[in-house]
Amino acid sequence: MKSLYRFAFVLPLAVFTLFFSDSLRAHEGMWIPSTLQKLVIGDMQAAGLELSAEDIYSINQSSIKDAIVHFGGGCTAEVISRKGLILTNHHCGYSQIQSHSSVEQDYLTDGFWAGEFGEELPNSGLTATFVVRIEDVTDALNSAAEGLEGMEREAALRIQASALIAEASNGNGYTAEINPYFYGNAFYMVVKETFRDVRLVGAPPSSIGKFGGDTDNWEWPRHTGDFSIFRIYADADNNPADYSEDNVPYTPKHSLPINMDGLKPDDYTMVFGFPGTTEQFLTSDAVAYVLERANPARKAMREASLGVIDAAMLSSDTIRIQYAAKQSRISNAHKKWIGQTMGLERFDALAKKRKFEEEYREKAAASGEFDPEVPERLGALYEEFGDYAFARDYLIEFYYYGPEIFRFAEQFSDVAQHYDSLSDAGLLEGQIEKLKASAERHFKNYNKATDSRVMAAQLPLFLNGCPELLVPPVLRDYERKFKGDGLLMAGEIYKNTVFADKDELIKLLGKSGKGISKTILKDPAYLAATGMIDAYRDEVMEGYGMFKGAEGELMREYVKAIMALFPDKNYWPDANSTLRITFGKMEGSKPRDAMKYLPYSTLEGIAQKYIPGHRDFDVHERLLELHSERDYGKYATDGELRVCFLGSNHTTGGNSGSPALDARGHLVGLNFDRTWESTMSDIMFNPEICRNIMVDIKYVLFIVDKFAGASHLIDEMELVYASAKADAEVTLNTHDADGAVTDKDRKLAKAIDAVR
Ligand code: ASP
Repeated sequence: MKSLYRFAFVLPLAVFTLFFSDSLRAHEGMWIPSTLQKLVIGDMQAAGLELSAEDIYSINQSSIKDAIVHFGGGCTAEVISRKGLILTNHHCGYSQIQSHSSVEQDYLTDGFWAGEFGEELPNSGLTATFVVRIEDVTDALNSAAEGLEGMEREAALRIQASALIAEASNGNGYTAEINPYFYGNAFYMVVKETFRDVRLVGAPPSSIGKFGGDTDNWEWPRHTGDFSIFRIYADADNNPADYSEDNVPYTPKHSLPINMDGLKPDDYTMVFGFPGTTEQFLTSDAVAYVLERANPARKAMREASLGVIDAAMLSSDTIRIQYAAKQSRISNAHKKWIGQTMGLERFDALAKKRKFEEEYREKAAASGEFDPEVPERLGALYEEFGDYAFARDYLIEFYYYGPEIFRFAEQFSDVAQHYDSLSDAGLLEGQIEKLKASAERHFKNYNKATDSRVMAAQLPLFLNGCPELLVPPVLRDYERKFKGDGLLMAGEIYKNTVFADKDELIKLLGKSGKGISKTILKDPAYLAATGMIDAYRDEVMEGYGMFKGAEGELMREYVKAIMALFPDKNYWPDANSTLRITFGKMEGSKPRDAMKYLPYSTLEGIAQKYIPGHRDFDVHERLLELHSERDYGKYATDGELRVCFLGSNHTTGGNSGSPALDARGHLVGLNFDRTWESTMSDIMFNPEICRNIMVDIKYVLFIVDKFAGASHLIDEMELVYASAKADAEVTLNTHDADGAVTDKDRKLAKAIDAVR
């Protein structure tokens, strides 16, 4: 039976393999910049790139990588001026914009523009990190772990990695990290420099920066001006420093010149940034887990909380501001998972994975070198340990993204459980002061009624869906007592907790003596929170750790075998939040039957979507005025003001804010999203369908200049008119070897600018 099944797939498999190796080669992949020369620069140049690998990534001279910033460790930003100005998405700077906002000074609604350096707003904890160099340390690590397996191998790798990191970051102000690639078949060390004083310079109103809201998120056509502007500050020697009034704007090694001509459809594009996670090598059973268990459960949990939060935000301006960033975090992934499931099902990803595994089995068996049963063994792991992973998924949804009271209450466990020893050690007062400060921050963005309704909506789902491993008995008691009614269960918890009311909590913390710990130890929110955390630690963590450990080992074997058995493909390592470059072109797609996505949108579309007073589609008066005047000046492309455009660049979360560059490395846009069908590309990239969405850089500048009147920021940038320079030698940019803008090029750019 098994062999019949195998032969039945021989023909379609051949077609499948061809399809993958040929049409994917052009666009699939997130390449490590230091490997371009060896792996992919030829393909990039064949696709239109006019630069060398050294222009993009160099350790000897300034290169494009010196303008790419890991923004706050999550998003990407890029340097766009010689005074440390950086550009990222509005949704990446959202929590900073929100934290400076209040009902009286509502930067979310009205936007914010600093008129001069002194008005730029500091952001505690926000960092901007540059990559200094990337080194392949595979041999160094493997030789230290030679002949070892399992935990021993892990330990040897760790020791060797620590030694290399210590050496690379010794006394130079850099940090370093070593990450596994290809599931531990390769290791690279990334040496980094992190700046700690990053200030908010400008943000458009949300009616521009978040235009279309959740309705348009992950959708095309798109008209979102998803950008915000920050500036990196350094000490007098241009080194990273904590915030200080004495700090000065950072002088970068490279800043991106701006392409003022715009692209034509099919023009080469590349996106340079820090993509978060992809999982291209998942087996069919792992994909089935995502489609059949994880995504439906996570989707239901978030639907429950969003129903409550959306309604609350509509009901009050205070809640709208308090919950703006939280709502975005929850809804973004929620809608993404729906699109991912839709795309993977429509593209028949499970069947394709199964066919591939069949081919793998045959080749592995024929090789005599690799285990043909690795996919089965991985499948067996999901059978045996799937519940641990599923319980963990629920913990993330309920504890980390659900009612905030859990996370908040759990912060008090140290004081509650170790009151006496903290007191004896003289540490109690300090701890209590810290908790008071944390309470101040927490309650600034907290609404008790909203939080309790989130719990009421999610608790029944959690109790019905989560594997018993993670459900603390205290929650089952409520379920029995209140017959599973969410409102009654949540009502009971919020009625009797001190963690939902700031005054009550501060009063408690002001008391002296053990009353504090006694009260906390019997608080219902605290008991539920610690119950979950204890259950995770006692019942789930070990099983999950065994699952991940075994899965990691098998995946290492599987990926090594795939790369050996299918040598025709140019392999790229899955995204892991390290610096990558991806390339494609400006192009639309045909996502569904009888439907076509054109490659760019224009300001006309904003006017067409305009619904006065609507949460997602209201348009600022000034933008309407600019639209009716149609005075786009140098920001027009062929007479139109383009807003967003599509490309076939392979991106994922973390690429938010990444620069979209043209063939010469000039900035043409700012990556911020993918079309809904494209979200499957985290697991399987389909070149016909997967498209990333970028905001056109000229729309960004138009908003900065004509809408906000912040032309002083435009003056800092280097605007380049490539068409006028077409006859000139193609250079990386208009910087000289030291990275300074040359006078000649400045004059040329100014002259061209003047005639537009
Ligand atoms: N908009 C996306 C995000 O926020 C970026 C992407 O995944 O393409 O994660």
